[in-house]
Amino acid sequence: MPYNRIVAKFGTGLITSGTDHLDLPTMSGLVNQVARLQYQGKKVIVVSSGAVAAGGQRLREIKERKGTPFKQVLASVGQGYLMHTYEQLFSQHDITIAQALLTKEDLSDRAGYLNARNTLLALIELGVVCIVNENDVVAIDEIEQFKFGDNDNLSAMVSNLVDADLLVLLSDISGLYTADPHYNPEAQLIRRVDKIDAETERLASDTANRRGIGGMTTKIEAARLATSSGTDVIIADGREPDILLRIAKGESLGTLFPAQVNKMESRKRWMLSGLASKGKVVVDEGAMVALKKQSKSLLPAGVVEVNGNFQRGDIVDIFDKQGKHVACGISNYGSIDILVIKGAHSDKIPALLGHDYGDEVIHRNNMVIV
Ligand code: GLU
Repeated sequence: MPYNRIVAKFGTGLITSGTDHLDLPTMSGLVNQVARLQYQGKKVIVVSSGAVAAGGQRLREIKERKGTPFKQVLASVGQGYLMHTYEQLFSQHDITIAQALLTKEDLSDRAGYLNARNTLLALIELGVVCIVNENDVVAIDEIEQFKFGDNDNLSAMVSNLVDADLLVLLSDISGLYTADPHYNPEAQLIRRVDKIDAETERLASDTANRRGIGGMTTKIEAARLATSSGTDVIIADGREPDILLRIAKGESLGTLFPAQVNKMESRKRWMLSGLASKGKVVVDEGAMVALKKQSKSLLPAGVVEVNGNFQRGDIVDIFDKQGKHVACGISNYGSIDILVIKGAHSDKIPALLGHDYGDEVIHRNNMVIV
């Protein structure tokens, strides 16, 4: 199946080619492929590791220091250098790039999730290639619950944020094997894993990855997460020629983990599960037509009533004036704000509230029609 919205994760081992510095020819090859995909009209979000390695390259003389704080120093120094390198490589293709540094904590927070989603979707729409990494400077190793800790899990979360069709985890291993191919010449590449079970996990833990944080175990965790929110996942060797282009076309390479649910279904189910809804807005006939017939966003002008006490980022139900449940979505404004702006033109939002989260009460991207 050809893919259109792709999250491509580049591991440290790949972009350094196993050395202690960024490997420009490898990075340039990957960037060329991303550029060609963008030119084909596909959308790519890159999750790139390598900040810590790039920092080591800049602070070579003192890199023998150890410990989390120093790793964070390296990430801080290296992230700029990493982005500078991407900037130079993408500018050769006239492609604008953006940076998003995320933490698990940011995305567990409903407003943080919504902000990140809105930003990434807007970047995609503008044809900007966003390069994502974990914000290692604030993500603290010791507090596990706040840290992804590895870019495999982060890239699965990003795939969910942007409703990706495909997550490609590129490293220096061709996929999941029946045994560790570094040690066992009989090891066979597994082409497809329809269901991730205890046996898959065992195979993954047998395959040690000597570089990078993740290894195969975190790749399987990421595959579990992404396939359960409707994204296909492929683990493949980023050093293979034109790997991204070939995968995007539907060529069978690496190990495929097919999505377990339909993408729309997964978001819909999440939003429609009554538990998640925190309130309700009632909309007028004009808004009903805009939502149902024209696939538009819900603007404050169409809102006639607000019920419940909800915050920006909460899921709310949308009802028509006859009391029929017509849609639900993630609200850009809290209930207190909507009470103030309901019925008003979106231009008036900044004056009425003193702040502005955009023209829409619920953006189309964050809405499901029942
Ligand atoms: N965020 C780390 C870095 O940029 C990489 C984490 C990982 O490799 O999974 O160096």
